[in-house]
Amino acid sequence: MSEQLDKPSNSSPALSRRDSIVIVLIQKSRRRAELPMIAALDERGALHPEMTFELSVWTEEIATIPEAYLVPAYERALTLIASDRPFIPGLMRQAFADLRREEKLALEDRRRRAIEPDCWHCADQGYQPLYAYEEKSRRWYRALRPCACAAAPEGQRKATPLQSPGYRRSGLGEYVSERDYLKYGAPATGFEG
Ligand SMILES: [Zn+2]
Repeated sequence: MSEQLDKPSNSSPALSRRDSIVIVLIQKSRRRAELPMIAALDERGALHPEMTFELSVWTEEIATIPEAYLVPAYERALTLIASDRPFIPGLMRQAFADLRREEKLALEDRRRRAIEPDCWHCADQGYQPLYAYEEKSRRWYRALRPCACAAAPEGQRKATPLQSPGYRRSGLGEYVSERDYLKYGAPATGFEG
């Protein structure tokens, strides 16, 4: 059983998942530059000294980048340099910052869309509430006028929404013609100002 005891204990180096990812990126960047590949492991199965050095350089350069972003940051960094220029691992920091900023903007955009309607004119209801004064009965009527947006039924959709000039909008998103407003005053609360 001495044979087993003689075997080097480090025959399979305990690489972290992160190290494994970085090693692949190192190999990819070398292939891209048409540099000779460095063997990851030496003949004893240990991490190759040259790879150990490369890994330590890269690890230092990209220490602030979370593991999940290593590959996306590498791919983005490739777009930041001309194809005939050597890859610089430090570029991944800038790429990572770009990716995070884009994610943040996309998140803010989704949040804003969730609370802001696509159509300001009708708040995506498809209809705009319109007050009209009927002189005969001397009273206001509130009708719903189809909007010009996709929320309005296709057959009823107007060419343009009720809007200024010509129509006054209340804080509640209701409308009245300027003509009626000037002649008969505010039909409901929210039109003043
Ligand atoms: Zn609309």
